[in-house]
Amino acid sequence: MKNQRRNFIFNAGIATASLFLSKKLNKKRGFQYFHKSKGPIFLSTWDHGIEANKEALKTIDSGGSGLDAVEQGVRIIESDPENTSVGLGGMPDSTGKIALDACIMSSDGSCGAVCMLENIEHPISVARKVMEDTPHVLLAAEGAYDFAISKGFKKKNLNTSNSKKSYREWKKESKYKPIINVENHDTIGMLGMDDNGNIFGSCTTSGLAFKRRGRIGDSPIIGAGLFIDNEVGGAVATGLGESIIKIAGSAIIVELMRHGYSPIDACKEAVLRISKNEDIENIQVAFIALNKSGEYGAYSVHPGFNYALTENRKTSLIDSDHLRK
Ligand code: ASP
Repeated sequence: MKNQRRNFIFNAGIATASLFLSKKLNKKRGFQYFHKSKGPIFLSTWDHGIEANKEALKTIDSGGSGLDAVEQGVRIIESDPENTSVGLGGMPDSTGKIALDACIMSSDGSCGAVCMLENIEHPISVARKVMEDTPHVLLAAEGAYDFAISKGFKKKNLNTSNSKKSYREWKKESKYKPIINVENHDTIGMLGMDDNGNIFGSCTTSGLAFKRRGRIGDSPIIGAGLFIDNEVGGAVATGLGESIIKIAGSAIIVELMRHGYSPIDACKEAVLRISKNEDIENIQVAFIALNKSGEYGAYSVHPGFNYALTENRKTSLIDSDHLRK
């Protein structure tokens, strides 16, 4: 008994020392480092993530699950007419229609998604219904719309005076440029960990502004825009979807974390892979990741990407590290 206790104290001592050392090392190498102490964690892309994270926390506090939290969090942004890259008032496609993409993934590996969904304010909730009420993962266009209506979602015109005006302006030249301005505030992607350490994720967007009709980005593609493996962690993406799909961005990050990469190193490796394949001068791509120990990180191609972090009940905005200095 005494020996057991001595061993326990010895092991605990080693664990504390190595935690201290790894914290120090991570700090020295400029890593964002976090070791979970208490309560849920939420991470989401861009500064609109602040409101989304607060809503996610509120959802957990009122008895919701981790899955409810990542759904409710991003719904707030879908309903914001001022936000021009998600849901209501999102930027239209090349024909003036707002076509939305979203996906959701749970800690048990189940997932659902919709793409090219029109006239429905909350694609994230339709994605959840696809996950829970069908044997499928992804429903598209009219099929997704008809399914949403059959589940009680209401038809709504998502164009606002601002989105119509932007479309009219764009139409004058109708230039098709699938390039993401590095300052754009785009897709909201959220990763959440509940009190029991289970990980969930959601992702929702109106996609590239004035995209070709029918073009689908990474955001509704499981493994590209979002991936969760509850044994390892999760990752979510924002930026030029084509570049993210080509490397299966979020799935790759989770696999790298499985093999020992820290979240930030895994995100950086994904960005490096993109930079090996294509000219990154005019494209922005960013990833955020969370691992099973509650460590998190982000990495982007260009400066300007930030993400919202909620931990220990406090929410803050963090500037991501980036490849192009
Ligand atoms: N990833 C989204 C897409 O390619 C857009 C974005 O995040 O800005 O559709």
